[in-house]
Amino acid sequence: MKAIVIEPSRLYRQMLSQIFQENEIVVQCFEKAKTALAALDKDTTDIICLARQLPDLDSLVLCNQLRATDSTRLKPILMITSEDAPNSIQEILQAGVTEVFRRTELNQLAAYIAEFAQQDWRKKRRHGHILYIEESESLALVTGTLLRSLGYKVEHCRSGEAALELFTQSKFDLVLTDLMLERKLTGLMLIRELRKLPGRFGEIPVLALSSFDDPRRKVDLLHAGASDYLAKPALEEELAVRVGNLITNRQLLDKVKRQQEQLHELAMRDQLTGLYNRHYLMDSGPKILRQASRQKFPVCMVIVDLDFFKNINDTHGHTMGDLVLSRVAKLLRRCCRDEDLAARFGGEEFVLLLPYCGETDALHKAELLRREIESLNHDGIQVTASFGVTPIPAGTVCAFETVFEQADKAVYTAKENGRNRIEVLSLETAIA
Ligand code: GH3
Ligand code: MG
Ligand code: MG
Repeated sequence: MKAIVIEPSRLYRQMLSQIFQENEIVVQCFEKAKTALAALDKDTTDIICLARQLPDLDSLVLCNQLRATDSTRLKPILMITSEDAPNSIQEILQAGVTEVFRRTELNQLAAYIAEFAQQDWRKKRRHGHILYIEESESLALVTGTLLRSLGYKVEHCRSGEAALELFTQSKFDLVLTDLMLERKLTGLMLIRELRKLPGRFGEIPVLALSSFDDPRRKVDLLHAGASDYLAKPALEEELAVRVGNLITNRQLLDKVKRQQEQLHELAMRDQLTGLYNRHYLMDSGPKILRQASRQKFPVCMVIVDLDFFKNINDTHGHTMGDLVLSRVAKLLRRCCRDEDLAARFGGEEFVLLLPYCGETDALHKAELLRREIESLNHDGIQVTASFGVTPIPAGTVCAFETVFEQADKAVYTAKENGRNRIEVLSLETAIA
């Protein structure tokens, strides 16, 4: 990037020059306006910094001149002034100055320049997937090339109908659409259709482009759900910055949603075993039972409680105890189907909720698990478990707590009857 400084004081020229150089901006310094103008004629510049008092020209006249010249019309002009009367600041801004800094506040100017240096919009690498709808092939080529040069992946189509077809086939971060589309679907209709789509699809940012710069049209567009609006022909930098802002916001929102899902998943999982935790079981268990009674399928609850687990901790240490718990959990997970719910209810107690599973199948599964737990190898330490099974016949309406109480009583009976065994307790005994 290049800067021009027009400043009569040598000391200030040096200070300003240093600020630009620190931000890797090549700087050319001038004492007088006229020599600077000659240099501006020959070369392109990205930013101009000038003093309010110049020896050879009124700085405000110079500003008007710069704003009337194509090459400097849109460049930032910073002015250094020692005046601080409000009306003079107003006068300066009206002449086309972008920002005014007092001589005593060069640190603020330095901050502005540091931020400006970061904003080199052509150099900043971006990523994102844009769906671009434009009928004119030549315009699509120019805009598409610009966006691709910035790092975006661009998919171009010529009609709203084609856009709708493409839209759900890929994960886009932005829709950039012209409003004047000749097929049945106009840009405005396309935006309305997009906003009807579910979830992330319907929340896609849409930047609308139009050759009409009509306030009514803008309002309609915003009502229809457009995120932003740009009149054609759009200034390259403005298009780049608006596209960049919309995509960055979209990506930030996606990131927050991903983090939310991860947090939710973490909150539902037991840290040691990776199984669902008690909180999740108490939330999802009743839902499964309600669904089962509505759709009339059987469910079985199986509680698994490790035998004499306290002894394992006491004899072999807590770390060994943890390892045993992890291995048993892994085994439970391996033996469960996708629709089964396996949770760690507490210390060494696990709960399985098995949809579409009647008593016979549940007993079969419990027996398999009992044997597998018994044959796990923990450096010669024998681990066994007691099982309580409560079947919920198809169509039964009952509270989750009631089922749990029954299965828990069954575990208690298994313990009393010698451990490493399975006991069944039906719901009828609870209801009776
Ligand atoms: P029972 O056969 O009657 O079930 O006897 P038990 O020793 O298994 O049952 P008890 O409820 O008396 O003891 C459970 C033990 O589980 C006590 C506690 O120290 C241990 N425990 C609970 N959570 C953890 C854990 O996260 N890691 C380890 N290593 N031990 C745990
Ligand atoms: Mg136990
Ligand atoms: Mg226990």
